[in-house]
Amino acid sequence: MPSSTPSLTAVADISPSWTINCVPKLNDELTAKYGYSQRARIERGVHQVAEFWRDEDGDAAAFEDFVRANFAGDQATLDTMFDRLEALLEQLGGHMHEINREFRQQLDLELGPVLPLDEIIGGYDPSAHVIDDFFQNKLAFVVLLNFPLTTLEERLKDGPTWSRRQWAEVRLAQGFSKRVPADVNLGIAQAEAQAGQYISEYNIWMHHLVDGRGQRLFPPKMRLLSHWNLRDEIKASYADASHGLAKQRMIQQVMERIVTQTIPAVVVNNPGFDWNPFTNEVTPATVKDSETPVGAKASNAPELDTRYAMLQKTFFASKKADPYSPTAPTMIARRFDENREIPEARVRAMLEQVVTSPLVPQIATLIKSRLQRPLEPFDIWYNGFRPGSQYTEAQLDEMVAKRYPTPQAYQQDIPNLLMKLGFSGERAQYLASNIVVDPARGAGHAMGAEMRGAKAHLRTRVEKSGMNYKGFNVAVHEMGHNVEQTFSLNDVDHIFLKGVPNTAFTEALAFVFQGHDLELLGLPAPDAKSEAEKTLNDFWATYEISGVALVDMAVWHWMYDHPQASPKELNQATVQISKDVWNRYYAPVFHNNDVVLLGVYSHMIDAFLYLPDYPIGHLIAFQIEEKMKQAGAIGPEFERMAKMGDVTPDLWMEHAIGKPVGSEALLEATRRALVAVNGGH
Ligand SMILES: [Zn+2]
Repeated sequence: MPSSTPSLTAVADISPSWTINCVPKLNDELTAKYGYSQRARIERGVHQVAEFWRDEDGDAAAFEDFVRANFAGDQATLDTMFDRLEALLEQLGGHMHEINREFRQQLDLELGPVLPLDEIIGGYDPSAHVIDDFFQNKLAFVVLLNFPLTTLEERLKDGPTWSRRQWAEVRLAQGFSKRVPADVNLGIAQAEAQAGQYISEYNIWMHHLVDGRGQRLFPPKMRLLSHWNLRDEIKASYADASHGLAKQRMIQQVMERIVTQTIPAVVVNNPGFDWNPFTNEVTPATVKDSETPVGAKASNAPELDTRYAMLQKTFFASKKADPYSPTAPTMIARRFDENREIPEARVRAMLEQVVTSPLVPQIATLIKSRLQRPLEPFDIWYNGFRPGSQYTEAQLDEMVAKRYPTPQAYQQDIPNLLMKLGFSGERAQYLASNIVVDPARGAGHAMGAEMRGAKAHLRTRVEKSGMNYKGFNVAVHEMGHNVEQTFSLNDVDHIFLKGVPNTAFTEALAFVFQGHDLELLGLPAPDAKSEAEKTLNDFWATYEISGVALVDMAVWHWMYDHPQASPKELNQATVQISKDVWNRYYAPVFHNNDVVLLGVYSHMIDAFLYLPDYPIGHLIAFQIEEKMKQAGAIGPEFERMAKMGDVTPDLWMEHAIGKPVGSEALLEATRRALVAVNGGH
């Protein structure tokens, strides 16, 4: 690992000047040796090696010797090279991932207190130096000499005509399209771990929220993780006729104080104080509902922009990689051109199609008439379209807790749940044997494996009183990820094509599972009217999360435009961006200006511009769900789709449903659903 800070010169300027002379000479020499049919491959390969070669890799003679020795001039040698790389890189990636998972165990799982040691080891990524090592020992140059680097434009234009093997070669080469120094990668991993830790402990003790008359609206011991649990409590409160509205207004107030960072520091994850989020008054708690020790003195001193300092750390860390990534020179470009493989402009256009749809005011009118009051900002989380809302949260909690008192109980039920989703007994057993259920410290997540034979992990939050409905809903979602992860690793033809095109696809497939959670509890499958309600629910959720994604995108652009900003300035900018997006796309139907709620998502802080994947996921989920309805059972279609692997999103979707990614499917179905719901009165 380099001991000093690497200089931030553009990669193109770092190649030795003598490569200009060596390249044409080698092109001619290799063409003479292997024939003109290899000419195009020779020119491309030699150019790619020269582009990434540095003085420390050797002089002109070393460069020439390397190229002569490692160019595969015939198909048989190339095939052997490809097969070996495929087998060995799977082992490397797979085992590195297993180490990483073990090292993060204490941070990720509910296994007792976290020591400073655990944060160090959880922030350590053993694979951070691998690419660097492979440039040093020249394995990366072997790949660059023989396999093609491509741009997003080429993959979009030519990808549809490539063979599976060609696609696998493209993905192999993409693994070496950057030469980022190891210490930069390590810095990114540390910033991510730190920010993740910050949000995974951001709980609000709800019984300690008091209103102007000193009343407590929430039960003892209720501890809600921001923002996920807070948002879900807003949703659940629609079923509470007597106190629901007061609870929702209070939670909105809490969320706004998190976004603006006027939240008193002492009330974060601390049951030792009572707090009125409206007046911001803090007093020592007059009731005790936890043994959690309390340190600080009562004070309403604000959190001091910690939220934005955390976000900025992830920005600073990722920005350091920019000069080493010439084809995607910002984090924003890496997210859209590389991770999503959908250009940012096209994503923005799809989101704007949703938030500006003429369907929005029509649905808002419907919600108003159902609530029999004007909309309030938290109604972006309105869940009255949900077919399952005939049951109260408490009824559902009781059902779930009885079934799943422990993570093990859920584990044992997986084959049964999968068969209910249309998987055969054999496939259900196969999948279940590849999934391990763990107790999550945070809200829950899924962690797939990276080599065939290793298992996917389902992390779910189970309270001492058993799993609750929220936990079950999340667990079903995560199980969808695990099933996708299992198929797209173990059942894909080339390991370089393992996975799905981008995270929006794994989210989409997880949403398909999550959408059937009530049926998995043995409750009735929704009828046609309920189906229409579900579509309206999906539309409203997509409308909400599209705004959140637009905020995330604007915040990252702001950070790039203001790299010297203080956390306080980033706070102010995020608040302003949240208000602007609100005023443009939400105020026209909510008739409330300057609302900051769109800025509350925790993943905006620790997930490096991940949020746009959620609305894209809804659009994709909708396209996929429609296809699955036509097919009848989810299981076989899910497997057929997941086995396509990691090609471009549009190509994957063409294979899955016969059309590219888009918002039209959701908008058209919403139109139909509105007619069905309104016509049924
Ligand atoms: Zn997910």
